[in-house]
Amino acid sequence: MVHVSFPYSAPVSQTLFDRAAAVTPGGVNSPVRAFRAVGGTPRFMVSGTGPYLTDADGREYVDLVCSWGPMILGHAHPEVTAAVQEAVARGTSFGTPGEGEVALAEEIVARIAPVEQVRLVSSGTEATMSAIRLARGFTGRAKVIKFAGCYHGHVDALLAAAGSGVATLGLPDTPGVTGAQAGDTIVLPYNDIQAVHEAFHNHPGQIACVITEASPGNMGVVPPGPGFNEGLKAACEKNGALFISDEVMTGFRTSRAGWFGVDGVVPDLMTFGKVMGGGFPAAAFGGRADVMAHLAPAGPVYQAGTLSGNPVATAAGLAQLRLLDDAAYAKVDAVSERIRTLVGEALTKEGVAHRVQNASNMFSVFFTDREVRDYDGAKAQESFRFTAFFHSMLSQGVYLPPSAFESWFVSTAHDDRAVEKIAAALPAAARAAAEAEEVSA
Ligand SMILES: *Cc1c(COP(=O)(O)O)cnc(C)c1O
Repeated sequence: MVHVSFPYSAPVSQTLFDRAAAVTPGGVNSPVRAFRAVGGTPRFMVSGTGPYLTDADGREYVDLVCSWGPMILGHAHPEVTAAVQEAVARGTSFGTPGEGEVALAEEIVARIAPVEQVRLVSSGTEATMSAIRLARGFTGRAKVIKFAGCYHGHVDALLAAAGSGVATLGLPDTPGVTGAQAGDTIVLPYNDIQAVHEAFHNHPGQIACVITEASPGNMGVVPPGPGFNEGLKAACEKNGALFISDEVMTGFRTSRAGWFGVDGVVPDLMTFGKVMGGGFPAAAFGGRADVMAHLAPAGPVYQAGTLSGNPVATAAGLAQLRLLDDAAYAKVDAVSERIRTLVGEALTKEGVAHRVQNASNMFSVFFTDREVRDYDGAKAQESFRFTAFFHSMLSQGVYLPPSAFESWFVSTAHDDRAVEKIAAALPAAARAAAEAEEVSA
């Protein structure tokens, strides 16, 4: 239990939350939005422009969530908005092939060398679920290796030790996933290549694939140690398993070519979502052409979707990707570094133990003095300090992810004014973190 006082009330958001709670479990459509980890009233947002969000009480925030990553150009970017309006006016869904989805697939294939063929879906969850099915269909094997703290969407078989959403809620396992569904999942500690070798040794010829976040951002930001992804790739190759790199969060964010563009390790399959949808439900999985050829209707592994390749979503995604050139990434990287430095300085000044960890422009703050290399390390932080820090920032108009186990995200729209507003809020928030006390339940 954490004791915090909430410096502001948010009466309109509270009224909306009460209405929501009457008709929706917990009042939200995705758990982290409910503020359970930090307490207080979730802010109902009514509009966004550039780096700012405005809530239902009329208060403006610098947004450091960016819809959990997708809004890398900021909110309501005029060119993305125009592309969407144009697409909507032509009709919103046809259930037939269309040129927009071809163009988006071509853009993905052009940017990411290991992706020879790609299939569009509507969410990251669908992408990882389908990639796992394809890996099992291709190899004829059942078992899947995943890492504790890595989140791959709410796929039944992958909801074991699955990071932020689950970590935040403190659910060790989720009811509703049967032993049979999770029984073929092997969960290993992140950044531990020896554990991977042992698992292959203990289950010879049974492991279909290893799936990992290319650089994890769902237990806070915990980048792969030197050689870890290379080691996974080599272990898969040696044992006839596929290496699946989940780039739903890092894809088109950590560089033009995502985390692949940073470490260059070539996976067999990759998954994408978030940035590639431009704020709409669009996601994808792709990779080796000989593996993708096993997918229906080319091959026997079934996969489908009524709204897959939706013309509005693909128009938004394509418009956003086309604006994401080297200059755009340089801008996002630079503003991320400025904010990381400011946060670190403010916490150091107040004597708060912390680590600011980043994977290119993705970053998060752990309230601990030890480098965080895995999920156990992430959980060992003093997250009650984050709670105090979060509410102080919120009351001063800076919207952070409402959990200590989430990445912070910035955009090309985060300009000097936005950074100054963050800088002005940090001293009081760092003091609140320093003064925070854990209250036992
Ligand atoms: C967000 C995320 C997913 C799930 O994507 P949804 O669109 O929320 O289903 C999967 N993998 C990673 C790494 C993610 O960050």
